[in-house]
Amino acid sequence: MSGNVVLIPSSFYRCAGPNCGVLKGVSDRWWVMWSSFDDYEVPVMHLAPWDEKLAIQEGAMHVCGEGCAQKLQSQFMGNVLENRMRRSNV
Ligand SMILES: [Zn+2]
Repeated sequence: MSGNVVLIPSSFYRCAGPNCGVLKGVSDRWWVMWSSFDDYEVPVMHLAPWDEKLAIQEGAMHVCGEGCAQKLQSQFMGNVLENRMRRSNV
């Protein structure tokens, strides 16, 4: 075998949860969340078990656990409702 790929840890992951900011350890079971508009033309929140490929995606949020995932979800839902209300008030 030739050309071994040396994996260099590119960055530290920090939890995106409100008032959290915990740094990810090697063995921590984290989650990745991101929102998109996909095919539906409405904001969609995605939640997936930790995966490096997902974690380096643009707009990916790194989440240390269920508690922070719930906070981020509620933040997302709040934003969506706020935007919707703002739009219908115009
Ligand atoms: Zn957290």
